[in-house]
Amino acid sequence: MDERYDVVVVGGGAAGLSGALALGRARRSVLVVDGGQPRNAPADAMHNYLGRDGTPPGELLAAGRAEVAGYGGQVVTGEAVSARAEDGGFVVRLAGGRQVRSRRLLVTTGLVDELPDLPGLRERWGADVLHCPYCHGWEVRDRAVGVLSTGPAGVLKALLWRQWTADLTLFLHTGPEPTAEEEEQLAARGIAVVTGEVTAVESSGDRLTGIRLASGRVVARDALVVSPVFTARSAVLASLGLAAADVAMPDGHVVGRAVPAGPSGASAVPGVWLAGNVTDLMSQVVTAAAAGLQAGAAINADLLSEDLRRAVQERRAPFSPSAERELCETVLGDRRHGI
Ligand SMILES: Cc1cc2nc3c(=O)[nH]c(=O)nc-3n(C[C@H](O)[C@H](O)[C@H](O)COP(=O)(O)OP(=O)(O)OC[C@H]3O[C@@H](n4cnc5c(N)ncnc54)[C@H](O)[C@@H]3O)c2cc1C
Repeated sequence: MDERYDVVVVGGGAAGLSGALALGRARRSVLVVDGGQPRNAPADAMHNYLGRDGTPPGELLAAGRAEVAGYGGQVVTGEAVSARAEDGGFVVRLAGGRQVRSRRLLVTTGLVDELPDLPGLRERWGADVLHCPYCHGWEVRDRAVGVLSTGPAGVLKALLWRQWTADLTLFLHTGPEPTAEEEEQLAARGIAVVTGEVTAVESSGDRLTGIRLASGRVVARDALVVSPVFTARSAVLASLGLAAADVAMPDGHVVGRAVPAGPSGASAVPGVWLAGNVTDLMSQVVTAAAAGLQAGAAINADLLSEDLRRAVQERRAPFSPSAERELCETVLGDRRHGI
């Protein structure tokens, strides 16, 4: 285990690569370990990223990897399985047994969209089974769209998607019955409501064609909006003692679980920063990238303070007992690790 970096970034999506770019440009040594499965991989194009609207998700990340490499950052494809604090830094273990050391950690592992368990639904995810109107609304404007209600936010979601199409059907499925006020709102916006359990999503070739109900009826639709449960990919953080917590919307309903962090991404474990969907479930690509940059700058500032403290200590008492002990520990540690 002789690999040492200022920062290991776990997760190389928009958040991780943006953090690595900032750190590389700040002349820090950086390793990005990335599993290569960004959340938006099923989508053909990425929207609402100013200057890159419509870019295929993989294209943005390939450009990001090249930019990080241009400043000396290393990007490897692989999975980090755990991390532990050691000697004032961290040891990260990768699948396959490789271990790397770093002074700081930036974890940007994203989230998993847990989809409703209905036959035919997963196959169409990201194409015409959708969740985010800002990502896909324009692409299905004026089309026949269904909204699958699986919880208290079903009606709200239908009222939101009405902005993109007037041909909207709310499938109550496992969601609650609308209140009298909600019924009035749905009627006022011309949104059809279908009661009864949904049993399948029907497709023909490469397009969604309808929604099958338990009664056998099939309602013709071009797209279906669902509300996945957003679950942070937090295994590496759990190994450091950082747990995910429920995230609730202002009306109180829980949308998923994320690992809490402060405004610049600092977690409850000193030296560990978070950015993107792993800590902010609502983050889009551009905001994940912004959070990565912010965390990268905060990490650099933290390293600067440590470098400064050490430099002042050395200048004041180059041969003080504590400086000697630190030097001995470094030399012994390096010998132990074969350097
Ligand atoms: C279908 C779909 C379409 C979307 N469309 C848009 C859109 O048009 N515009 C938009 O702004 N947003 C869109 N989003 C949201 C967008 O995907 C997220 O905002 C964005 O991906 C968050 O970036 P991130 O860096 O936090 O996570 P991700 O992009 O998910 O990257 C996380 C990375 O970490 C890696 N990873 C995870 N665990 C490990 C580990 N243990 N070791 C190593 N690597 C690991 C993963 O493989 C992945 O590469 C869409 C989402 C979905 C589901």
